[in-house]
Amino acid sequence: MTQGVTPLARTLDQELIALVRGVSLACPVCSEFVLHVRGAHGLAIACPECRSILAEGHEVPEIALPSIADTG
Ligand SMILES: [Zn+2]
Repeated sequence: MTQGVTPLARTLDQELIALVRGVSLACPVCSEFVLHVRGAHGLAIACPECRSILAEGHEVPEIALPSIADTG
């Protein structure tokens, strides 16, 4: 009986996949819009609100995140 059980990890994984593929633009942490940034190691997704960074590979790229606090 595996029906009816939806592990949280799977849901989060699906959200991340949707993010990477550009299907979703909502931050899985705070639901704000994320930015897609081309880093040195590929695509990186950054959230200017909670400053989460989702990047391919094992190295977190240096990304200058725009600060919402500075603009508003
Ligand atoms: Zn966020």
